[in-house]
Amino acid sequence: MASIPKVDEEYLVEVLVSLLNTPSPTGFAGEAIGLVEKSLAEFQDIKQRRTRKGGLVVTWSGEEDNFPRGLTAHVDTLGAMVKEIKSSGRLKLTAIGGFALNRVEGEGCTVITSAGDKVRGAILLTTASAHVHGTKVNETKREDDTIEVRLDARTSSAKETRALGIEVGDYVAIDPRVEMNNGFVRSRHLDDKAGVACLIAAVKALQDANHKPAQITTLLFSNYEEVGHGAASGFPADLEELVTIDMAAVGSGQTSDEFHTTICIKDSGGPYHHGLNQKLRALADEHKIPYKVDVYPYYGSDGEAYWRAGGDVAVALIGPGIDASHNYERTHTDALIATTKWIVAYLLS
Ligand SMILES: [Zn+2]
Repeated sequence: MASIPKVDEEYLVEVLVSLLNTPSPTGFAGEAIGLVEKSLAEFQDIKQRRTRKGGLVVTWSGEEDNFPRGLTAHVDTLGAMVKEIKSSGRLKLTAIGGFALNRVEGEGCTVITSAGDKVRGAILLTTASAHVHGTKVNETKREDDTIEVRLDARTSSAKETRALGIEVGDYVAIDPRVEMNNGFVRSRHLDDKAGVACLIAAVKALQDANHKPAQITTLLFSNYEEVGHGAASGFPADLEELVTIDMAAVGSGQTSDEFHTTICIKDSGGPYHHGLNQKLRALADEHKIPYKVDVYPYYGSDGEAYWRAGGDVAVALIGPGIDASHNYERTHTDALIATTKWIVAYLLS
């Protein structure tokens, strides 16, 4: 096969940074879905529709249509919701997605009221002040009851907080704190906005080179992955294969790193599809794409969500290495480019 078209790195990073700066906790990802829709609107041969659930389904006509294929990535991220308005006027939170609130201790946040107003604040330990609580700052067990939001507004009672328009059930978006240094992208929510940006950059790479995918392809940008059912629906019934684009877990004992893309052979949901894995590995070898092969101990994906929902297709999972996942994450453009190239190679295969 001929060499794969060039990936526009500047475009990829630009799309990624705007996505990262668009809050999209699961259940409130509409703005981020809109951003993806707008980015893809400039391309040819693409039809877009929103699912009833709020995700985005993109149908891209291919050279052939006898083996429909799909790719998916999720725009939703971890976040929180107001669980309770305390008598102090501060907010008790409930986490959205699988993480403990202590991982966002000290982070800035935005409370989005049901009227759409935004109130800024910070997520803090209830015993945050060292000069007041002494050793308790270290000793306090971090749990939902000891983490709260301090609003940047004059309030010291539940009544005053309610007067700001804040109520139980309001979404709380956690600041991403995006920063780029020496090719590293440091931000919260690279899971899976990095995957979304790679997928969009792959579309651009093919379009810039005037190529179509080898087969008709459905791209599903899902909005409920972090709670386990993002890509459970949205694919056409005649789909043959599904490649999930989501982060690779970096840390001790893992082969994945921030400079490679990874294929995950097995995660907590079990092994992925052997035949599709082998096909992807052969493509990466052929195109000299720097990749790792890994197994993730505590991980589930939208590919599995589709399997569990009854999807009778081959499923695989690839994605860029992300350090400190579901925490203050980091990756490198090398991993993003490698992932995008792999998607491009697959689309053209
Ligand atoms: Zn993810």
